Amino acid sequence: MRLIRSIEEQAKVSESWRRRGSVIGFVPTMGALHRGHMSLVDASLAVADRTIVSVFVNPRQFGPKEDYSRYPRTFAGDRRMLARAGVDALFAPGARSMYPKEFATRVEVTGQLSRGLCGPRRPGHFSGVTTVVAKLLNAVRPDLLFLGQKDAQQAAIIGRLILDLNLGVKVKVLPTVREPDGLALSSRNRYLSVGQRKVAPLLYRALRSGRDAIREGVLSAASVRARMRRMLAAGRGLRIQYLDIVDARTLQPVSRIRGRVLLAAAVLLGATRLIDNLPARAPRR
Ligand code: AMP
Repeated sequence: MRLIRSIEEQAKVSESWRRRGSVIGFVPTMGALHRGHMSLVDASLAVADRTIVSVFVNPRQFGPKEDYSRYPRTFAGDRRMLARAGVDALFAPGARSMYPKEFATRVEVTGQLSRGLCGPRRPGHFSGVTTVVAKLLNAVRPDLLFLGQKDAQQAAIIGRLILDLNLGVKVKVLPTVREPDGLALSSRNRYLSVGQRKVAPLLYRALRSGRDAIREGVLSAASVRARMRRMLAAGRGLRIQYLDIVDARTLQPVSRIRGRVLLAAAVLLGATRLIDNLPARAPRR
């Protein structure tokens, strides 16, 4: 596996692979890799001729009070894991080369996709994500981009970015990988204390119970949310940041459940913020 540290080198490597007719798959990450990331890597390895994974903890997507400096960094292990999986290149640029001093651009997807859910709770987060993704896509020029359903809003926003700027990349969104007790894998799970770790799966259980209610024909979003809230209230030290039911395509909150929706939540366990979501569909009548 090639380790690539500069944007210029990445652009050259991609160009040479593309010239040979290779289909390039790309998995952007912030490292601290787990099975969730590796499911995206495996999906790329299965369909692309070349798979490139980036590891870059993007300072621009962290708020001033967020965990940028203590975000887990496990580069040596990540590198080993990716090499073993058969990845062709690991692109790990430094923060200075991505954002030189004179850097002055922000790429932002406006409108409903960014307005709800994590948008207002993490000001500047999604424009940090779209700015870095635009840069990464320009360096890598992949044919296929692999993203996780775990970050559904992020995937929707990146999909919009790609269409709006004609970036010509096909996006594949893969299902959330979970622990046996349902907790979605996340690099941040390691922040949880033993007690908090026991409470954390309640988030998924609440979302599932919401989905079950919808399947049983409860179509009032307020009723479904109340059911999920009641379940989460049992979690010691768990605080709900948001708990919403939105249209799966537009991410607009719904009051009456029709077609495909997304049950999405963010909770705080101590200082650790966990997000999760589940797609659901109203039963056909
Ligand atoms: P991150 O390193 O957190 O920026 O995540 C990199 C990519 O991995 C994103 O597309 C995430 O949605 C995806 N991802 C993170 N956790 C999971 C998971 N548990 N299952 C599937 N994909 C995930």
